[in-house]
Amino acid sequence: MDRFEEDLFQLKKRRNPLWTETKKEGDNGFSVKRIIINALIVIAAAGVLIVNGMLILNAMDNHSDPKKFTYGDKVNPYTNQTIDDIFSGVAGRIPILMYHNFITPTSAGQIGYISKGKMRYYVSSDEFREQLELLYANNFRNISLDEYLSLMKGDKKTLDRLPPDCMLYVLTFDDATYGQFDFLGADKNGEPIIDPDCAVGIMIGFSKKHPDFKLNAAFCIDFENTPFLQNGYVEKKLNLLLDYGFELVNHTASHEYLANLYPDNKAKIDKEIGRAMELFESYLGYRARTIDKICYPGGFDSPEMYGYLKKITYNGKTYQFEAALDAEGLQAYNPNDTRFNPFDIARIEINAKDFKMFVLDAPGLYKTPPVLAFKKGNNGYIEKVFEFIPESVITGNAH
Ligand SMILES: [Zn+2]
Repeated sequence: MDRFEEDLFQLKKRRNPLWTETKKEGDNGFSVKRIIINALIVIAAAGVLIVNGMLILNAMDNHSDPKKFTYGDKVNPYTNQTIDDIFSGVAGRIPILMYHNFITPTSAGQIGYISKGKMRYYVSSDEFREQLELLYANNFRNISLDEYLSLMKGDKKTLDRLPPDCMLYVLTFDDATYGQFDFLGADKNGEPIIDPDCAVGIMIGFSKKHPDFKLNAAFCIDFENTPFLQNGYVEKKLNLLLDYGFELVNHTASHEYLANLYPDNKAKIDKEIGRAMELFESYLGYRARTIDKICYPGGFDSPEMYGYLKKITYNGKTYQFEAALDAEGLQAYNPNDTRFNPFDIARIEINAKDFKMFVLDAPGLYKTPPVLAFKKGNNGYIEKVFEFIPESVITGNAH
């Protein structure tokens, strides 16, 4: 398995129980008690099987007959929340979309053969365009990670630029792969030509069509490979991303799973984060100071580690971080939710099925407040005024 496959494997392994396990009493779905009960069931079943093989086969079929995707009786094994808990989050959740690989007309050759099983983890240029259009048409508006974090109670800055009654989402791109940001050579002035079919090119095109679509996605960059895999363009690309308004996130120097290193190998964590910062600085100079978030490689995090990651010292320099991105597979908590932790921000791996289920058609998403009042502005126009709505109202108002 290559690194990307391994990321996905871990993610799927973590996510699958959510949709296949029926909720059990007790805290841990994998408890010894449950194993013993299962063993007894198997022994009993074997006994009955001798008596009537067909009956038991039918019974087993019925048992495995999945009540698939009905909410309420499934539980997230990592948080012990039912799907109902999750989707009725205090003030509604916000989906953070996580993309890895894009198949563009020009990058397809670079990516090479993709097996049928792996295809679902790739998004084509047309699919990505369609997803942006669908979100827009369904009243979703994109916000940056900083805006997401600023949705804390009392901060209305972000809400002021958003229409009332819309749902929010954040775009993130991991691993700086082919198809995310490709150049197609240079124009007469030597300026690089951005592939209109790569993720960045598509977002630029989309923002021209819909001016309220901001170029504010986050790119989680690691340095295991040359970022975006086009040698000689790294400095140009990283700076261009910041010029456009995109955000860069520290995805470590060599994509090491940080949770495996804590607490026994803190020096390695310092190196993974600190070395990445040095590389960012080598390309961006002082602009690297804008990088204040971490993205866990493979989505491996542990609560004991969160505090440690706030301040990392490496080669005599100290770097501070305010948040970290996970890959849990569900929508992120509203930052007003008491369960919100800035170092454990969930994201959704996007493929056609999960895009529909966890984003487009997901119930219980946060909605911006409706217009509550009007006032006369200085120039006589009526301006909309937003007020923060109590949680109870938003919950009752949920999508
Ligand atoms: Zn990664």
